[in-house]
Amino acid sequence: KEASLQEDNVSVPKMPSFDYSPPPYNGPSVDEILAKRKDYLSPSLLHSYKKPLNVVDGKMQYLFDDEGRRYVDAFGGIATVCCGHCHPDVVDAIVKQTKRLQHSTVLYLNSAIADFAEALASKLPGDLKVVFLTNSGTEANELAIMMSRLYTGCQDIISLRNGYHGNAAATMGATGQSIWKYNVVQSGVHHALNPDPYRGVFGSDGEKYAKDVQDLIDFGTSGNVAAFISETIQGVGGIVELAPGYLPAVYGSIRNAGGICIADEVQSGFARTGSHFWGFESQGVVPDIVTMAKSIGNGIPLGAVVTTAKIAEVLTRRSYFNTFGGNPVCTAAGLAVLRVIEKENLQENALLVGSYLKDRLMAMKNKYEIIGDVRGRGLMLGVELVTDHQEKTPAKAETLHVMDQMKELGVLIGKGGFYGNVFRITPPLCFTKEDADFTVDSMDYVMSRM
Ligand code: PLP
Repeated sequence: KEASLQEDNVSVPKMPSFDYSPPPYNGPSVDEILAKRKDYLSPSLLHSYKKPLNVVDGKMQYLFDDEGRRYVDAFGGIATVCCGHCHPDVVDAIVKQTKRLQHSTVLYLNSAIADFAEALASKLPGDLKVVFLTNSGTEANELAIMMSRLYTGCQDIISLRNGYHGNAAATMGATGQSIWKYNVVQSGVHHALNPDPYRGVFGSDGEKYAKDVQDLIDFGTSGNVAAFISETIQGVGGIVELAPGYLPAVYGSIRNAGGICIADEVQSGFARTGSHFWGFESQGVVPDIVTMAKSIGNGIPLGAVVTTAKIAEVLTRRSYFNTFGGNPVCTAAGLAVLRVIEKENLQENALLVGSYLKDRLMAMKNKYEIIGDVRGRGLMLGVELVTDHQEKTPAKAETLHVMDQMKELGVLIGKGGFYGNVFRITPPLCFTKEDADFTVDSMDYVMSRM
């Protein structure tokens, strides 16, 4: 079954064919799930569609609902599913490891964990070789920030306005959007101007924004800092690619102030940007700590901090461990992910299909006044909707409407940005040109009827 908005069958976009039928679903209805959710799940959890979607199966770049309808998952989970939903190699690795040993503790040796750490370290440049495994991106960034404070003996952290780093104390502090912050103690963070080529005050001039970081060091700290942390393409913040030349200049200032540089690759890592395996490589810098999660386990809870032996040394000052971080089932999945990315040339595919998709979206921008900006790299793309180009007034309601209608046609995309007016397109890296066409044609179909 295909999802469709069947009112004008002449031009309804057609989903690429796919040879898989999910087993019949005999579980509870949408209303029963909603009732349970209301009674038993945190009220902070939101679902984005007017008519809620009950997703019961996933295969590669597609999801299936409780009626067997297929959807192109152009959000890729939440930029988490890099190899594709239930990729057979990842599933096999998980099943094999689960049958053999489901859990191990730091007290014993286990090759699933050591092999993964070795393979992961081999993907990083320079002296970045020591891996600490966590369960999430938040935990990875919390640890990175703590290590920077221990290593430098300073407390001051510089991060970016509009960045997102997690939902615990230090990471919520480093996050630069009020919508994700609660009023609890998150001290020691200074938020620099966002080097956002579309909305930022200096346009695409990376060096001018970098001067703001030097100013923060000079006027807001003792002259010494612990760290600078940033994404290279902001994900939650609405796919904002940092202005060119920004990171090299900032890394220079931070290191002069005795600080270390943390690259948050939770969304932009693992070949997603197509041109490189890691987002930071596009700016020609080598960080001192790299944090990652999401794609690392194809959606399985896993995160990591990778740093140098010298910085990792700080963790020997006290006892430090994590019960589930580095669970062998998760690391078996992680190892399979690295192999699939290589075996299936997913980085190359992200580049090819991503460039094609971006070109098609740019053409849409010329067609529809409501599209203010199209940006991003590889299969990490953003489309910002505005009601007028001069003021860049966020078209929030229109964004929700297009998302909702695209879902009815069979395409799931994400939404983000501080104003909630940016589509986030971060599909599994096995996305095809036909999937890209279907995604853009569906957006076109909806926009042409607004
Ligand atoms: N860093 C970035 C760039 C993220 O996008 C996210 C989550 O969206 C996090 C950190 C936090 O990761 P998690 O939700 O796994 O804790």
